[in-house]
Amino acid sequence: MRQSACSPHSIVESIALLVLLDAFRPDYLWRTEFLRDLARRAAVGAMEEPFGFLPRASYFGGLTPNETGYSNIFAREPWRSPFPCVPDVDRVLAYADAATMRTRIVDEARQRLSDFGGRYADGFAIPTRELSSYAIAEATPPWGPRCGYRSLFHILDEAGLPWVQCSWPYTRAVAGADAGIVASFLDQLSEETRFGFVHLSQLDAVGHESGPGSAAMRDALEDIDRLCAVLYTRAHERFDRVRMLFFGDHGMVTVVRTIDLLEELRGRALQPGRDFDLFLDSPMARFWFRSGVKRDEVTSVLRRFDFGRVLDAHDLARFDADRMHPSNGELLFVAHPGIVFSPNAFQDSAVQVRGMHGYLPDVPDNRGLLLSYDSADRTPRSIGVAQATQIFPACLRMCGLDPAEHTTVPPLREEPAPRRWTTAGILAHEARVSDDLVRARAAIASRAPASAIAVTGSFGRGEGGVVSGAHGVEVLNDYDFMVIGPDAGNAAGLGTQLAASLGTDFCDVMPLTSAAGLPPSQLHFDLRYGGRVIAGDPCALDRIPAFAPSDISLRDAARLLMNRIAGVMLVPLPEQRGHEALTQFAVNQLSKALVGAGDAYLIAAGDYSSRCVDRAPRFSALASALAIDGRLAAAIEKAYRYKLNPQPAPGVFRHGDFVIARAAIAAALRQLAAQASASCEWELAVAAALDSIEPPGDMERRAILEKLTVLFRATAADVIDPAIAETARQRLADAWLAVCH
Ligand SMILES: [Zn+2]
Repeated sequence: MRQSACSPHSIVESIALLVLLDAFRPDYLWRTEFLRDLARRAAVGAMEEPFGFLPRASYFGGLTPNETGYSNIFAREPWRSPFPCVPDVDRVLAYADAATMRTRIVDEARQRLSDFGGRYADGFAIPTRELSSYAIAEATPPWGPRCGYRSLFHILDEAGLPWVQCSWPYTRAVAGADAGIVASFLDQLSEETRFGFVHLSQLDAVGHESGPGSAAMRDALEDIDRLCAVLYTRAHERFDRVRMLFFGDHGMVTVVRTIDLLEELRGRALQPGRDFDLFLDSPMARFWFRSGVKRDEVTSVLRRFDFGRVLDAHDLARFDADRMHPSNGELLFVAHPGIVFSPNAFQDSAVQVRGMHGYLPDVPDNRGLLLSYDSADRTPRSIGVAQATQIFPACLRMCGLDPAEHTTVPPLREEPAPRRWTTAGILAHEARVSDDLVRARAAIASRAPASAIAVTGSFGRGEGGVVSGAHGVEVLNDYDFMVIGPDAGNAAGLGTQLAASLGTDFCDVMPLTSAAGLPPSQLHFDLRYGGRVIAGDPCALDRIPAFAPSDISLRDAARLLMNRIAGVMLVPLPEQRGHEALTQFAVNQLSKALVGAGDAYLIAAGDYSSRCVDRAPRFSALASALAIDGRLAAAIEKAYRYKLNPQPAPGVFRHGDFVIARAAIAAALRQLAAQASASCEWELAVAAALDSIEPPGDMERRAILEKLTVLFRATAADVIDPAIAETARQRLADAWLAVCH
């Protein structure tokens, strides 16, 4: 036992814990409570996995795939395959019982392998006849004497620093899943322990089966968050100084399309097994050839597919993976993010895969969380994007060792990261927003003193738009406030007055008597995960139900698009047609419309995030898999970029973008209507918008909305007399404003 609290002790007992949260994506952080709060007094960033599926030598030895020679679990090396070669295997399989045969082969392989390598001995879904062609690239654990490199564990042994681990594949023998792993890990810790490695693996399976935005993922995040809190609390109870590095070995990309690659190849008269061999890792295909001619033929077929890309030496060099053993693959083909090959060697086609990793390491959703905590430094810091190899020097440093003595890999770089209202954090902009919010808070609190006040919208999530323009510092986004409490109703109607006094286009003040029991919607999701309390109960937002991204309905996405249509129609047509210069208001509505189209796709894919900084790269990554027209996707990406980095009007926008915005909204609505089995996309938008207006089904409001959509579509081309159209637009826009503001 440690010394009792009252006895004097001069020796500081410290512990370093490496906590691997399998497949924990950086943006999951906002959907937790303990880790999210810990992040506000720690260093936070993202980590890129090494190319492929073999990361341990990176974490524990700082090695790249070039240095180990392998990036994938199975290598085409029949000479060292643990699977016995059965002569004339096809004939044997034809008359013997295939399952029994496979069991015998697997059993024999298991006997030849250590318990570590034995984890792979079942060969997953590799066809039985091909097993004996493959060896297991990493057959011993990083602490084993013959793991092939000097690992962190060897260094700790030499330095006399005791360590413990409870990690895959040994955790398979621990009962009670992740909770059991944590309990068993804590049992192993003693006051002498200086380093511990624990691996919680549940999240990965949930991500694959249900998807990163699913309700199942929400529950799994709640569980893992609780377990991290247990680790944190127990460590502080037993040690004076606690350093913890939480990390996701990779992220999880939402799967929107599956491709049967074997079928695609056969359709082009290419049959693996004759002149070339093929191994299907889930989003990656590796090829080996018996002739250069075949290689050229396969390569040219692969290059014509629109669902992935052949990696050239330049691509691979980017990831330190251009000098691996040929047995690791002579040609690599990787699916575009959001596409998975099915069937593959790890999942047979009967399994519906909704999330996948193993895409190129720099695909943002393929990255994992990185959170570095030190009880001796509680300032908020940022790590940015780090490489998996940097885990090695980080662990050495946490253990009090000098990384430079053991590796040339640079340690993690941490920079101060105070909480901000805007992305760029320019001092004058932050000061302006802070002043505005102080005034707004005072005005709201004078009417509703017993309620909590939360900033929501772009400022709430730290992505507010502010520019330095001709008229000084200008606030581009609306201020949105949620007032939650018994007297919240008294603040109703304050928005117009606040907008005038703060100088913004709009200001929304939404009163709410209670946060409990709110139904799922994009607005409530944003409030729950992207709001910031500035007065009253600091936990006010945590009392809102914990929605999953997939809880946001298609109808909600349609309503968003209808609101954006209305926003565009507030811009005078001469301005939309380029007869007058674009005002800031026009640019705001235009960019919101394009971003809205992108958001609608993400809601439909079940992977929305309240933060634009997550949505923008997610949209870009999935655009190809979602088969979105290239011109529309480019305009949507431009709008996301503008949202994160606004400039004075017109910025990057031209009047022609109004035509593109109309097409982008129409395309997004078509996608929603197809998924919702709605007959007409415009009818869906109007009906969804009416849901939010009281009383529902009001004929006059329906008429306004219908006319608005008709005019919105018609003005994509100059088919109507400009003067008549502009008069109609003005009337409709005024009528629309009257019903919704
Ligand atoms: Zn996985």
